[in-house]
Amino acid sequence: MGRQLIAGNWKMNGLFGPGSAQAKELAARASAGTPLAAELLVCPPAQLLLPFAEIFQDSGIALGGQDCHTAARGAHTGDISAEMLADAGCTYVIVGHSERRADHGESDAEVKAKAEAARGADLIPIVCVGETEDQRRSGKALSVIEGQIRGSLPENPEDSRLVIAYEPVWAIGTGLTAKPSDVQEVHGHIRDLLSGLFGLEAGAAVRILYGGSVKPANAAELLAVPNVDGALVGGASLLAEDFWAIAAT
Ligand code: PEP
Repeated sequence: MGRQLIAGNWKMNGLFGPGSAQAKELAARASAGTPLAAELLVCPPAQLLLPFAEIFQDSGIALGGQDCHTAARGAHTGDISAEMLADAGCTYVIVGHSERRADHGESDAEVKAKAEAARGADLIPIVCVGETEDQRRSGKALSVIEGQIRGSLPENPEDSRLVIAYEPVWAIGTGLTAKPSDVQEVHGHIRDLLSGLFGLEAGAAVRILYGGSVKPANAAELLAVPNVDGALVGGASLLAEDFWAIAAT
């Protein structure tokens, strides 16, 4: 497995002035001193993509979108295509975040089509999966996640340009985190599934991120869990200092 990936999902947060100041601080940290062991990725809201692409130039920090449409262009008011994200300097895009599945009724099939559109534009899709609190309480977490994986992953198993983010819905933005033993169980299950679907080598090459209230204080414990290949960070990615502390863990 290569470098861990620490990805920041800014969601619908960030105005040009203060957002650019945080991005500049992050770029300055990344450009000074020894390079981080981890790969850093920031997924800001769409209006900040172009200015951030300039700020991150030569810093090694990657840029990503938070969603993309299944089509490359056309009559889809308010949407953005994978091709447009790539044009703005992105190399990654998050698809199937639980907030999009809930707010926009996105199905596994739609998430899969988005992941394929992302690959078609040479972007690496970060496919999000995760159970709700009710599903975990009723012992269905693993089967729900398995269903989402089987339904949401793009075709072409041999293509390892893929990241999966396990984000228990009840842990997102709540301050609650999954226990390391639960994270280990879920990530191990996802790894086994990937090996079954893609073969051992390709299955092992897919990075599996954990997401859900990752903070500087709990990052070390979570990032040390077997089969955790990085983190998808929401709230704590908005402050350069906190995001850097997680990435430098
Ligand atoms: C997320 O939105 O992907 C996320 C994990 O958010 P938070 O870190 O705020 O829980």
